[in-house]
Amino acid sequence: MPSTGTTTQRGYGAYHQRIRASLAPRVATGSVRCARCGQLIRSGQAWDLGHADGTGKREYQGPEHATCNRSAGGRTGRSRTLDPAPRPVTRW
Ligand SMILES: [Zn+2]
Repeated sequence: MPSTGTTTQRGYGAYHQRIRASLAPRVATGSVRCARCGQLIRSGQAWDLGHADGTGKREYQGPEHATCNRSAGGRTGRSRTLDPAPRPVTRW
């Protein structure tokens, strides 16, 4: 793969990381609801910072269960996939 020109693939860049980090303490309390299913994200449960559908990953809609985030990406009812970017790899 080319070593340059990858800046367009910034769906999960530093900005994402910063927002996620700023939300993490609140999510860790177990009082934040999943943006997709509306259920509480329990303390210690895996979560992703979800993007609003159809925005091309430009808008964040908030924390989501990792399972909700991934199932939505995998079987979305929307026919077009704007960003075939790889799923984020969370290391914890
Ligand atoms: Zn959920």
